[in-house]
Amino acid sequence: MRYVANTDRYRDMVYNRCGNSGIQLPAISLGLWNNFSDNDPIENQRVMLFKAFDLGITHFDLANNYGPPAGSAEINFGRILREDLAAYRDEMIISTKAGFRMWDGPYGDWGSRKYLVASLDQSLKRMGLEYVDIFYHHRPDPNTPLEETMAALDQIVRQGTALYVGISNYDADQTKEAVKILQEQNTPFIIHQAAYSMLDRKIEHGLTEVLEKNSIGCIAFVPLAQGLLTNKYLNGIPKDSRAAKDYIPFLNEKDISSSVLQKVKSLNDLAASRGQSLAQMALVWVLQQKSVASALIGASRASQIEENVRALENIQFSADEMKQINEILK
Ligand code: NDP
Repeated sequence: MRYVANTDRYRDMVYNRCGNSGIQLPAISLGLWNNFSDNDPIENQRVMLFKAFDLGITHFDLANNYGPPAGSAEINFGRILREDLAAYRDEMIISTKAGFRMWDGPYGDWGSRKYLVASLDQSLKRMGLEYVDIFYHHRPDPNTPLEETMAALDQIVRQGTALYVGISNYDADQTKEAVKILQEQNTPFIIHQAAYSMLDRKIEHGLTEVLEKNSIGCIAFVPLAQGLLTNKYLNGIPKDSRAAKDYIPFLNEKDISSSVLQKVKSLNDLAASRGQSLAQMALVWVLQQKSVASALIGASRASQIEENVRALENIQFSADEMKQINEILK
């Protein structure tokens, strides 16, 4: 049956301005790093994308290498977009990236102009798009002059294959340098995609200051620490969880240590006292950070997306709750 979007989709979602750009991002965005590969049933992918869009999630984040195999998330997303969501393209912010290894040889990795321009062309073909809304350099490249990588981002915008650009995984100093070059070029650099969660607060030591000073928005990836910041692992590793899937190497049994679980349990109790699930509290917590415009979640089923969006029903923390969280995380 043809998908028709929920007419109330913009009623409850919160939209935050990304830096000082013209773009507003949904407070919760959906990333397709996992669960949109060729190992995952396309019907579930479809249901998740529909659920997200119906709840006002307008931003979908991809990368050239998301899968496995690399590229399959873009192909699957492109298929669903073409078959069901084409009418809504202009209501979406679609992003992709290049920076990690994508193809063999010296031109399929890192940060050369050659790699970035070719990779985006491939991504557009896989997704069936003429342009993406945001194109990111996925990680800093220590061996390519930053001027070359930033010039490639600029070229991509001038040639019309991306509207805005971003960087990801750059630290505070690298970001400062990138900002300088991108501002000189007048490139529409609006966003930094950075790891941020209650279990990973590195960006608070310098990066957030650089972003605020330069009015660059931040989108916080892995805000649930891949599922650790939910109630999922409190009683062992469920069979259908990311940690149990052998084709996903990014979260393993050893990551779920007793010291982490101790913190998670205390956070879970605190969330309950706020009338929230831990996932919900973890998401609104990242949104407290001034430069963070959006929490970029992943999901393996539509019910998780529903639960996570409901986090926005309680976004306030009391000073005492913040104090308790800091104590637990110490
Ligand atoms: P999260 O920290 O949001 O983890 C998502 C996982 O948490 C889900 O797959 C699910 O695990 C579990 N989960 C989500 N909601 C719930 C819930 N309500 N209850 C219980 N479990 C829940 O983020 P991801 O690690 O998926 O990353 C999100 C996005 O960030 C990526 O898709 C990508 O777009 C981006 N990213 C960017 C990177 C970069 O270098 N720029 C690096 C990594 C990610 P399960 O599958 O077990 O059900």
